[in-house]
Amino acid sequence: MSAAALADLIRAHQPCVVLTGAGVSTESGIPDFRSATGIWADVDPFEVASIQAFRRDPERVWSFYRERIHLLRDAQPNAAHGALAELEQRGLVAAVVTQNIDTLHSRAGSREVVEVHGSIRSARCLGCLWSEPADAVLAQLESKPTPDCPHCGDVLKPGVVLFGELLPAAELERATHLARAARLVLVVGSSLEVWPVAGLPLEAQAFAIVNRGPTALDEQAVLKLDAGAGETLSAVLDAL
Ligand SMILES: [Zn+2]
Repeated sequence: MSAAALADLIRAHQPCVVLTGAGVSTESGIPDFRSATGIWADVDPFEVASIQAFRRDPERVWSFYRERIHLLRDAQPNAAHGALAELEQRGLVAAVVTQNIDTLHSRAGSREVVEVHGSIRSARCLGCLWSEPADAVLAQLESKPTPDCPHCGDVLKPGVVLFGELLPAAELERATHLARAARLVLVVGSSLEVWPVAGLPLEAQAFAIVNRGPTALDEQAVLKLDAGAGETLSAVLDAL
């Protein structure tokens, strides 16, 4: 099975919707979560990235996310992000649904991006639902441990979906609609372990997977490439 076979599949099965996970951003120097060198190998997500932790100790959660936001903003889109933007421009990808919060798809030029786990673009007030842009949040964090809502004074929450939180309803609905309308969902860089997003490929007529290592849905995929995202998608572009 090769990138050429994947290119044929994409050409023959339109519309194609792409679902991406952490594996698409590792080549940008962003560690993934669950591998041996991943973020959760060193820190307990329930201590720093859960809604319970945020309610109990927002300073701890923000000290984790402040570093993370800086790291993600310094990262640059890689070949995989670029190839997906190019595929959209050529009319071969209808949308990218991503579990990533790093905004690298948008920065690479993808226009139809559904961020089902939120993003670092802003922080959110749980009291009045105000959304504060990341620049203003980081400016506040220069002088205090947690950012406040400029409207009601509550502590702002990172604009990413924390453990224990529901996914944003509008984004999840849009992602489900896109998957159901797709003749092909192409999964890139996700081991499909986090629900409900991991169930999206099952909504499509067929799905293919590009991921290093096994995923929960390998058996049901029409094609599985155990390979890196950047090299594979670049080869797919060349083959189209
Ligand atoms: Zn507020």
